[in-house]
Amino acid sequence: MEITILHKDERKVNFLLEGVDVAFANALRRTMLTRLPSMAIDEVLILENTSVMYDEMLAHRLGLVPLTTVLEDYNLPEECDCEGKGCSLCQCTLTLEIEAEDDDKIVYSRDLSSQDPKVVPASGDIPLVKLAPRQRLIIETYAKLGKGVDNAKFQPVATVSYKYVPLVTVDKSKCDQCGDCVEVCAKNILKLEDDTIVTQNTLDCSLCEACVEECESGAITIDTKKNSFLFKIESTGALPPEEIVEKAAELLMERIQVALDFANSL
Ligand SMILES: [Zn+2]
Repeated sequence: MEITILHKDERKVNFLLEGVDVAFANALRRTMLTRLPSMAIDEVLILENTSVMYDEMLAHRLGLVPLTTVLEDYNLPEECDCEGKGCSLCQCTLTLEIEAEDDDKIVYSRDLSSQDPKVVPASGDIPLVKLAPRQRLIIETYAKLGKGVDNAKFQPVATVSYKYVPLVTVDKSKCDQCGDCVEVCAKNILKLEDDTIVTQNTLDCSLCEACVEECESGAITIDTKKNSFLFKIESTGALPPEEIVEKAAELLMERIQVALDFANSL
């Protein structure tokens, strides 16, 4: 198995995974999506809400705010010594106390104040509710670690997808250099250069085969590379993208080991 990182920034990572079959690639994708824990607001105590938004909707919106997570700092509630009742080892309190004065006021995720500076909204610009003059919110919330398999708000990834690695070939003996394929390709994979069609940035190819349909002489063939996958991962901001991949791989290995131990015990 070989991994090549193609692009990485604060929120996204794109990499090429080679030497694995589709079942493994999909297991890794689903582990990132559903098994990797992250923090989210799970309990909301509304002490005062004079806004037009009713309590349940406000609680729902608070739950969907991605929170930065340090996995080592908190226990999963079901694995904590408190047996999920809630203690400082498995939950973090965030409060919201705000009042609009003489003008309307939009309450943003940045207005939440957290007891733990490491557990804060991943983006401060998420609007929660609009308050009219003199409307007020006093809310206490409890964030916990959870998994995407239980509720999508706990998913640390906004996008996790893979596609087959495209192989685009142009048979020069059949090509009549009409350039129609260049026009039809939305991803600019094909280019007319010195009277021949050449390929560029083939990893961007979406495998739509529009060029194959357009090419009357049948010079273009699109195929995919065996056992190679292009992954695109975008974090919600809860965890850095490289940590998402690393921890998901560890979790997958642990789960495979459980299956192996069971098989060996038979
Ligand atoms: Zn606890």
